[in-house]
Amino acid sequence: MSSQLKLYNTLTREKEIFQPLNPPHVGLYVCGPTVYSDVHLGNVRSFLSFDIVFRYLTYLDYKVRYVRNITDVGHLVDDADEGEDKIAKKARLEALEPMEVVQKYTNGFHDVMRIFNILPPSIEPTATGHIIEQIEMVKKIIDNGLAYEVDGSVYFDVRKYAEKHNYGSLSGRNIDDLRSNTRTLDGQDQKRDPLDFAIWKKAEGGHIMHWPSPWGQGFPGWHLECSAMSTKYLGKEFDIHGGGMDLKFPHHECEIAQNQGANEKGGPRYWMHGNMLTVEGRKMAKSEGNGFTPEELITGNHKLLEQGYSPMTVRFFMLQCHYASTLDFSNDALRAAEKGYKRLSDGIKTLESLQPAETSSVDVDALKKSCVESMNDDFNTPILISKLFDGVKMINLIKAGTEKISADDLEKLKRTMHDFTFDVLGFKMEEEGSSEGGNLTESLIELAINLRKGAKLSKDFSTADQIRNELSAMGIVLKDSPEGTSFEIG
Ligand SMILES: [Zn+2]
Repeated sequence: MSSQLKLYNTLTREKEIFQPLNPPHVGLYVCGPTVYSDVHLGNVRSFLSFDIVFRYLTYLDYKVRYVRNITDVGHLVDDADEGEDKIAKKARLEALEPMEVVQKYTNGFHDVMRIFNILPPSIEPTATGHIIEQIEMVKKIIDNGLAYEVDGSVYFDVRKYAEKHNYGSLSGRNIDDLRSNTRTLDGQDQKRDPLDFAIWKKAEGGHIMHWPSPWGQGFPGWHLECSAMSTKYLGKEFDIHGGGMDLKFPHHECEIAQNQGANEKGGPRYWMHGNMLTVEGRKMAKSEGNGFTPEELITGNHKLLEQGYSPMTVRFFMLQCHYASTLDFSNDALRAAEKGYKRLSDGIKTLESLQPAETSSVDVDALKKSCVESMNDDFNTPILISKLFDGVKMINLIKAGTEKISADDLEKLKRTMHDFTFDVLGFKMEEEGSSEGGNLTESLIELAINLRKGAKLSKDFSTADQIRNELSAMGIVLKDSPEGTSFEIG
């Protein structure tokens, strides 16, 4: 293939040819979840975007070490280094050990990733599992004169750092503008400058997650874990760092500063940022009441949903949009995706039944080339999907006898369609009926309702009552009306 992978580097704001530091190895780091609550669909989109990056790099025969962390300490409720730890707060509210909260939501996160066929990373390190590495990094930053300790807490000295480095380069912010937009120090604050951020925090009374350090009992600042763990597993310099757009500032900006401050290297060479999922133009968020969970989406059990959608339909819906564009959720778009995904999987099924001819009238090489080119253009999944539909059209014309295909080309066509549909885009065939799981339940309930009706007509009221009571015990409530019997699943 002549074309090369290009990706949009948010650090340089340019689409660049991807050149790994040590080919065929590629280091990929993605900021993982803070495991204190259920994953919502906006999070799924972000992890799906980097699943595609991981899958396509693997398709290109790179040996990818994919590191995606679990934040299980240090992420405070307030971004200005104040307030409770999100995990500790949840533990208090639910009367659990912090590690029970972590385990519960880590399990939930993994379940959701599995449902959407998002591959696990090569390494999934936790912040609490890397306290020593984080303390070492703080020490280095202090030794390099870029951090200072005040009463058991250590702060990164942004002003000092900015003398030699460009703080704000990733997010395109200017340090003076940033300062004028930051709240002023109130005298209680230990920071020398409002832009400084905590890399180690003293555990004040009541803070239940803390570790011994050279500065006393405390815990790492949230931004630090990603610098420490990416350095440990991928090196002081590595290839790609990804995350959601909302992490660009301050999280990723602080990561760069910490990497430079400790290692005199900025860490990743390419930064990639995925865009948001919106609902009717507004960001999907729990506080907006528009952040449904994957379960709600699949069952359709949410006021904004007109029906349930299968995980692969949702995957298709998300991949029909480029990762760097905002994607707006709507029932119409989901229904269209359901049809589109069915057309693609029907095409793949038809492919299995095609019979080869002596010669080909179709150009399979050109199809494969166009698939590769679309992904080489900054992982352009919507274009790839349109190329796969060209493949489906080809399949249907061969099936209809309008075009013909040789045995060799047929093998190539199967390989191309399978590689890009299953390996690169990560779809998996949904078992017949599984996406209609809701319909099967409904059919069984209708069956029970009809049996009850029959029992009533033959005056067998004890059987009729038994059916009603047993359904009720399963949470299915029958409602009789002059129009007949309807049901509600409670
Ligand atoms: Zn991170």
